[in-house]
Amino acid sequence: MKAKLAAGFLMAMQLVAGMRMNPAAAPDVTVYVAAGAAPFGLQAKALAGSMFAAAGVRVAWRNGIPKPDAMGGLVVGVRFDEAPARDYRPGALAVAYPFAQGSRGITVFYDRVLATARASGVEEYRVTAHVLVHEITHVLERIDRHSETGVMKAHWSREDYADMARTPLPFAEEDIVWIHRTLEGLRNGSAATTLDRP
Ligand SMILES: [Zn+2]
Repeated sequence: MKAKLAAGFLMAMQLVAGMRMNPAAAPDVTVYVAAGAAPFGLQAKALAGSMFAAAGVRVAWRNGIPKPDAMGGLVVGVRFDEAPARDYRPGALAVAYPFAQGSRGITVFYDRVLATARASGVEEYRVTAHVLVHEITHVLERIDRHSETGVMKAHWSREDYADMARTPLPFAEEDIVWIHRTLEGLRNGSAATTLDRP
């Protein structure tokens, strides 16, 4: 299992290297931001994009209702719920629906992101970017899993927030493997049937 993972990681890193040589290629993931999502700033998009770029994933940002990608890339919709009910998924900063039929979407609970930013002393756009990257990665990995380290941890610790204030939390090796496994499947057209599994 470990050897398999290492081989997968090596393959993913080769893919990363290959992509860097071809920066003009079509995006791997297109993120559609719902109209009226005012809090979603350029800085958050830029940081989230650079976090994915470090893992060899090209992200494009659009506004409005998600449309299928003719090139076979993953399409994700993001909306903001500015003030969800207090007892709705308490503690969660966002929720992803990786298996939803038709639209694979993310809802960000923006008041909680703001409160977390204030409490941790981390700039809001940095927290927003990490929340987006975390949830988009759930959609990309297509299984409900978390990692022991990095941006895919189930809960970020005080130390994680301190790190986040300076430099983005990285992906764990296994996350890069999972992400590229999905992207490879999408490119080969083999992911469509499993992607919508409930
Ligand atoms: Zn999660």
